[in-house]
Amino acid sequence: MKDFIAALPKAELHLHIEGSFEPELMFEIAQRNQIEIPYKTIDEVKKAYQFSCLQDFLDIYYAGAGVLIHERDFYDLAMAYYQKCYENNVIHTEIMFDPQTHTERGIAFETVINGLQKARLDAKEKWGINSLFIMSYLRHLSEESAFETLKQSLPYKDLITSVGLDSSEMGNPPTKFKNVFEASVKEGYIPVAHAGEEGPAEYIWEAIDILKVARIDHGNRCLEDENLVNEIVKRDLALTVCPLSNLELRNTDVMTNHPLKKLLDKGIKATVNSDDPAYFGGYMNANFEAVQEALDLSKEDIVTLVKNSFNYSFATDEQKRYYLEKVDEVIADFN
Ligand SMILES: [Zn+2]
Repeated sequence: MKDFIAALPKAELHLHIEGSFEPELMFEIAQRNQIEIPYKTIDEVKKAYQFSCLQDFLDIYYAGAGVLIHERDFYDLAMAYYQKCYENNVIHTEIMFDPQTHTERGIAFETVINGLQKARLDAKEKWGINSLFIMSYLRHLSEESAFETLKQSLPYKDLITSVGLDSSEMGNPPTKFKNVFEASVKEGYIPVAHAGEEGPAEYIWEAIDILKVARIDHGNRCLEDENLVNEIVKRDLALTVCPLSNLELRNTDVMTNHPLKKLLDKGIKATVNSDDPAYFGGYMNANFEAVQEALDLSKEDIVTLVKNSFNYSFATDEQKRYYLEKVDEVIADFN
């Protein structure tokens, strides 16, 4: 099964580039930029990555992001992730980035996007990986701040496919961003949003009815509302589920209780993703392996999950056909 998972070409639909920042690279860039961080050695950084609660996670996450200053830093960050994609056989990825995490510290929007874009081109050339960008608004900040970010993004609109909503969910319902999502859609961005990770099923209703999202990030808690489950199936919306993340942030107590199989059984188009892999214990293959083993998923389940990711990606129809052919080739090899 492990070999089968590794051999399958995969798409990743829920990945925060800032969450792929490995301790070694963070330490290296901090030194290069002569930024003071509260860790003297790589081992100390690694220790800090072993957080025990959400606040500890956010502390190290923002300390990490704080060392990113120059275009080259964002390039290096993204290239390190693309390298992992190559190793995990991820051939299509939709990368979220949080401009506000950087612009709030005085880093220009263009520094961020230019670094990411250069990496995207190089990853395509070096490994043949296709990728697109999802600009995510930080929901703990105001809608006004999101509007400012939208404005800053417009000169780079052609490089960005979608807008998302992430960061602390509780107390920051999707409704708060109704107007900026409307404006973003008018600019041609496809809307997605985190909902129902920590937050209640009600937030998922808001994401689909008010933000009119094309995909729900996480969405695990839809299972608490049967009408919502039916509506998600009826509207043919996919969920980007992140097993190791759910475990690390205690949204799932043990992996054997993870809701992924239940979601599939209800007819929901679930997908597997790594979220913040440097912090949550693994990239795509590790996520598939963990959930496969805990829930005793069959080969057919794995194939369904992998195909869902391609089918519900924002790739073109032609790309999707090509990807699915590649998947079928591997399935044939294993039969
Ligand atoms: Zn996320």
